[in-house]
Amino acid sequence: MNIVITGGAGFIGANLCKELVSRPGISNVVALDDLSTGSAANLAGTGVELVEGSILDRELLDAVLHRADAVVHLAARPSVPRSLEDPFASHEVNATGTMRVLEACRARGVHVVAASSSSVYGSVPDLPKHEELPTRPLSPYAASKLATESYVLAYGSAFDLPTLALRFFNVYGPLQPAGHAYAAVVPAFADAMMRRVPLRVFGDGRQTRDFTYVGTVARILADAALRRVTSSSPVNLAFGTRVSVLDLAQRMASVLDAPLEIVHEPPRRGDVRDSQADDRLLRELFPDVAAASFDEGLTETLRWF
Ligand code: NAD
Repeated sequence: MNIVITGGAGFIGANLCKELVSRPGISNVVALDDLSTGSAANLAGTGVELVEGSILDRELLDAVLHRADAVVHLAARPSVPRSLEDPFASHEVNATGTMRVLEACRARGVHVVAASSSSVYGSVPDLPKHEELPTRPLSPYAASKLATESYVLAYGSAFDLPTLALRFFNVYGPLQPAGHAYAAVVPAFADAMMRRVPLRVFGDGRQTRDFTYVGTVARILADAALRRVTSSSPVNLAFGTRVSVLDLAQRMASVLDAPLEIVHEPPRRGDVRDSQADDRLLRELFPDVAAASFDEGLTETLRWF
């Protein structure tokens, strides 16, 4: 089986590439990545071929997808704050880029598994978030990910393309970069603890997130591609573990046996207050999935740091 991973040199993509090369029945894994936030070093030693270029490049996409049996589409301009600074750039990669990938797949009937985001639920207050809830994006990033999944589902129904749109929640684990302005909360906290500087918490820290270990995400994505899993509705990819940002900080400090010092900053525009997945649909589609516990995942992540 030949699998193409767009965004394959990024955090989740490179973890998926590692998972795929360990599976039987995979003859070729290709990562297509423009290295805007990903890095070739993430794929070192995997044997995965890296094609450097953009999903917006139609000819390159056609060439890369020529022999693909499945595409896992992860390439995106991530981050809510980045989308507030340049909404159009987020739209171009996340919405137009997704259409480019879908068009290239449509021509060949290639199965597509794509990354959406829990941010699409936005200001909807209900918990847990189940897939039938309305979507009310709070940021251009969230709107662009809603466009991503909408196009994926539309190509499924309009062209019978086999597709699956997964709403990732807060994914964390090895290879997730720290030390830049848009770093996710787990690597940002880990980095601050290692450097013995206070953790920056936006708002009161009581906002909650559903953290999913990247190893679990990679296993689900690999299964989805290998078993050609499809769904006509979006599917949450998280397991309903609701942890506050303050609780996260405390658990990380206790794994590292580090002192905990926090500075509070104003809440960030575009951030949702609470997040927790309803995982029933996920478990129906992936009945054999074994999710890493939060403490196991944190321990692995901090060992990597
Ligand atoms: P990441 O930034 O590490 O990965 C994105 C990859 O896409 C990077 O390697 C980047 O270089 C590449 N890329 C960007 N623009 C491209 C383009 N035009 N052409 C080709 N490659 C391009 O981020 P990640 O956390 O690994 O995210 C992967 C996917 O999961 C994204 O679609 C993101 O929106 C989604 N997601 C992630 C999370 C999370 O918690 N990490 C949550 C929800 C959704």
